[in-house]
Amino acid sequence: MGDKTPDAAAIEADDQKYVMRPWTHPAGEPVIVAKARGCVVTDVHGKDYLDFTAGYFVNNAGHCHPRIAEAASRQVHEVLQVSGKHGTIPMVRLAKRLVDLAPKSIHKVFFSTGGSEANEFALKLARQYTKKPDIAYLENGYHGLTLGSLEVTASEKYRESAGKPLGNDNFAIPTAYCYRCKFGPHPQCNVQCLDGVEEKLASRQTAAIIAEPVQAVGGLAPPQKWWDRLDQIRRKLKILLIADEVQTGLGRTGKMFAVEHYGLEPDIMTGGKGLSGGVGSMAVTTASNEVCQSFFGGTTPTSGGNAVSAAAGLALIDVIVDEQLVENALKMGQYFTEAAWALKDPWIGDVRFTGLLGGIELVKDRETKEVLGKKEMGKVKDLLHEAGMLITVSGWHGNVLRLQPPLSITSAQIDQFLAALRKTLIAVRGS
Ligand code: PMP
Repeated sequence: MGDKTPDAAAIEADDQKYVMRPWTHPAGEPVIVAKARGCVVTDVHGKDYLDFTAGYFVNNAGHCHPRIAEAASRQVHEVLQVSGKHGTIPMVRLAKRLVDLAPKSIHKVFFSTGGSEANEFALKLARQYTKKPDIAYLENGYHGLTLGSLEVTASEKYRESAGKPLGNDNFAIPTAYCYRCKFGPHPQCNVQCLDGVEEKLASRQTAAIIAEPVQAVGGLAPPQKWWDRLDQIRRKLKILLIADEVQTGLGRTGKMFAVEHYGLEPDIMTGGKGLSGGVGSMAVTTASNEVCQSFFGGTTPTSGGNAVSAAAGLALIDVIVDEQLVENALKMGQYFTEAAWALKDPWIGDVRFTGLLGGIELVKDRETKEVLGKKEMGKVKDLLHEAGMLITVSGWHGNVLRLQPPLSITSAQIDQFLAALRKTLIAVRGS
């Protein structure tokens, strides 16, 4: 238990009155956080939560890592913000560091302020380079909520938020949801879900395919042969690959970038979220020299590559390397998987972790895979919240517990979560 903020109730009342939020909340939310360290956040009432959202998949090195905080505070006294047409030392250094870490197809970095914006620049870049208008995206894919990025985001619920019909330049192609594969059990997979995709891509003026290498919504990691087949098709048709690493980048999946799992060499790769270590917001659109040559941005985003965020981002990468957080993500993802299956809970239908990008899919019946209903999912979420576990619910059918803690999480903290999950599932089921 942390310290209680003296005017906690007034702050919560003001939040309700003055802060605009786009949806209604589950019990206990929004949590107004007063302090956060490592994997723990403390609310204004002094209640501690284990944060399995890492501050919405941002604080990969844990909340308020001292080395990141120190790098940011040092930078505050040097230079804060310059025109995006110029640059700062940390910005240039971060660009070099990212290119050094990225797949060898990536040579240059364009800075902006958020993942949606970075993806919009990626779409522009692809269209300008290929002189073609259409972009293919994956079913279940998420690339942001601004109007341009919404056009390549699959969920109808999000698309409807546009308030107008979205354009029809972009189109969906199948994703790999192997747990619910229409074509039968996994070992017999011939990647039939991609049958017809080559024809579909070829029938349009397709500039690029945008995809998360591993889909964060529901934690869907395609098998190698799925990516091999799609990559082969798009290379044959000379279609660019935009890898959206906004959520999967910087160690989250147990590799520095998730494309490394599959040996993918994207023409364009985007990043954001954790990139600035939680200090401000920064995102990047990176690309090959060849694609960059035709880039016409018009002008630059005002706060792209902010010096303080860039200094924090450099410190973040140092921490990830020095504290072996990529390796820990891989190890803890395996631990989480084994320990979750060991609960032998009849509602646990699938456990999917790629590093610490994880999802536990809850079902009413393991044989039929009947989705656990909205009401029960709501109760599970509420009880976990009460037990001090900060999580979100996600997935194609809204029945996946999304588990993406800071990469520094320990097995003891995972045990704590699973003990709470065990109790919760028994309580909601009634036995
Ligand atoms: N792409 C992916 C894969 C994401 O997960 C997100 C954010 N959830 C975005 C893009 C959009 O990023 P932002 O919210 O910073 O605009």
